[in-house]
Amino acid sequence: MMEIKLPTDVKMIIDRLCGSGYDGYAVGGCVRDSLMGAAPHDWDLTTDALPDEIERIFADYKTLDIGKRFGTIAVMVNAELYEITTYRVDGAYSDARHPDEVSFSDRLRDDLARRDFTVNAMAYNDREGLVDPYGGARDLSDGVIRCVGVPAERFGEDALRILRALRFAATLGFTIEPETSKAILSQRTLLNTIAAERIRDELLKLLCGDQADFILRRYRSVIAVLIPELKGTFDFEQHSKHHNRDVYRHTVAAVRNVEPEPLLRVTMLFHDIGKPLAQTTDKHGICHYRNHPKIGAAMTREILRRLCMPNAFIDEVCTMIRYHDERFKPEPVMLKGYLKLLGADMMLKLMLIQRADILAQSIYLRAEKLSNLAAVSDELRRIITSEECYSLRQLAVSGADLLHIGYASGIRIGQTLDQLLDLVIAGELPNEKEALIARAKELFDKPE
Ligand code: ATP
Ligand code: MG
Repeated sequence: MMEIKLPTDVKMIIDRLCGSGYDGYAVGGCVRDSLMGAAPHDWDLTTDALPDEIERIFADYKTLDIGKRFGTIAVMVNAELYEITTYRVDGAYSDARHPDEVSFSDRLRDDLARRDFTVNAMAYNDREGLVDPYGGARDLSDGVIRCVGVPAERFGEDALRILRALRFAATLGFTIEPETSKAILSQRTLLNTIAAERIRDELLKLLCGDQADFILRRYRSVIAVLIPELKGTFDFEQHSKHHNRDVYRHTVAAVRNVEPEPLLRVTMLFHDIGKPLAQTTDKHGICHYRNHPKIGAAMTREILRRLCMPNAFIDEVCTMIRYHDERFKPEPVMLKGYLKLLGADMMLKLMLIQRADILAQSIYLRAEKLSNLAAVSDELRRIITSEECYSLRQLAVSGADLLHIGYASGIRIGQTLDQLLDLVIAGELPNEKEALIARAKELFDKPE
């Protein structure tokens, strides 16, 4: 029998439930992760005790009603929240989102039957060991995502499961069992009925999976339901020496080439989405994509808004896309100009983006591109760690200094500081108070 090491607090919760005459098991993701030898990020519990009874059993703890109607009470133990959910049989799903009604059950089997995939439909406690009626442990060791029950029916009940299957395949590096896969492909448009927030969370996890590239390629028709704008990149050949893949295949390779972090992965997924619209052909038959970063950033903004991404995240992704193809050179004046415009953080992230992009292109000029990028990165780091000035924050005069010499408050001050900063960056003025004030006085006397 497979051993799972339950944390002390989880044991305590199960012991209390059992001591009160009920069942208690760890269930779902934590059992799956434990059997894989990975540390679960949270422990969910299931029981035949009803929500009111759970509250009573844990009356001396802080409890939170986070969905009593669906049977879930959270109990706070040692500053950690544990969700305890009553065995449930889900009713019909008229909107393919949440069950219209749930009814509680007193059988663990019913609860496991409502779960999405066999690897997520296992329960465990120390008395009974693993409860695994659907062969989840076998699928886990074979690396298979398989629906509990008939795939078409399960996706019909809740279409988010289509995307969850892809998410688990991408993050666990699993394959999808043929019947499940068939149903995913044939029922993919049901995803149109799912709330954007639910899509967003699963999509971000999928993108950060080790095997995201494979899933994005194999199931691109599902991705196209979520993001129809990507369809333009499918099989879109780039008639350019720099590329040996169509835009979508290049995109997917670029996704794989960045660290599994939502910001970087989302940026790579959309970085070339503007290419099909931006394509022009010159008289030699060579294609150019001059405006694709700008067009791509605008398209991406719309997509990410629709997916309910947070505004700060959208802004950052769109800025990265807008500048992803900028031709940086290892020259201090140029780089300080960009540092002023975008900040140090963004510039360093752009280095990661450009590297991933280059490595997803053909080998034409690759060595040159990479060595230029390394030189740019080195120069950026040198500027950032030196005391050299590229931002208003570092400038040796401030707005207060300008007020002091007679500037009226208002945009004129901002404009003057900006001009002074440009002069310092260009090397035409030292970053010293006296020289800057003197120049500010000259600018002040000049009529606008
Ligand atoms: P993670 O490690 O990402 O949290 P998880 O398997 O715990 O993965 P959750 O979304 O936290 O995923 O869901 C917890 C459990 O609830 C799942 O393991 C599964 O048994 C069940 N579940 C979640 N969503 C669904 C769904 N849409 N349909 C059926 N069962 C679901
Ligand atoms: Mg979970």
